Amino acid sequence: MNIKKFTFNPVEVNAIILWDDTLECVIIDAACFYPQEEQKLQSFIETNHLKPVRLLNTHGHFDHLMGNLFVEKTWGLKTEIHKEDNYLVENASNQSLMFGISMSKPPLSGGFFDDGDVLTFGNSSLKVIYVPGHSLGGVAFYSEADKLLIAGDILFQGSVGRTDLPKGNYQQLITGIKEKLLILDPDTKVYCGHGPETTIGDEKRFNQFLN
Ligand SMILES: [Zn+2]
Ligand SMILES: [Zn+2]
Repeated sequence: MNIKKFTFNPVEVNAIILWDDTLECVIIDAACFYPQEEQKLQSFIETNHLKPVRLLNTHGHFDHLMGNLFVEKTWGLKTEIHKEDNYLVENASNQSLMFGISMSKPPLSGGFFDDGDVLTFGNSSLKVIYVPGHSLGGVAFYSEADKLLIAGDILFQGSVGRTDLPKGNYQQLITGIKEKLLILDPDTKVYCGHGPETTIGDEKRFNQFLN
């Protein structure tokens, strides 16, 4: 599996593209906001002859949904998300205004996944790992074959997701990370919703929130 990360929008969200030899790709947390970011995403996909087949969201915070309208308009893909975060999709533009950013309403979700679901594209698959606490419907996407975890805002290098937003729950988040993420192979590379990459092994050793 191949991966490309873009950092988009005023909140600096990491948008992820995954693809394999079939050139089918998934877009995770599209997040592009400015026209030049939309252009960047589109030209990367076109230059590499990729075929977007799914639009996945790690969770429903507005900053991770900013590119969904563009992706739906450009490639006809519907947003897939955990159902517990669907209410966030429906009020994303209100969320963004509270942070002083005006965004157009993202499209309605077109499909829901749950803990343990396996999402396929090309010859590849991603397992859904449900870890609420940062948001009610937060998930990570995991490829055991590639030792790769797309963690959204659940886990960061040296930190964890904030839990002071509505429906946040610190204890639930920490327990979920320990029981469902830290058990993965220590060599698993972690792409976070913001900031740099890390590994499960490094977070197990050095993350002060988890010791
Ligand atoms: Zn978030
Ligand atoms: Zn975020």
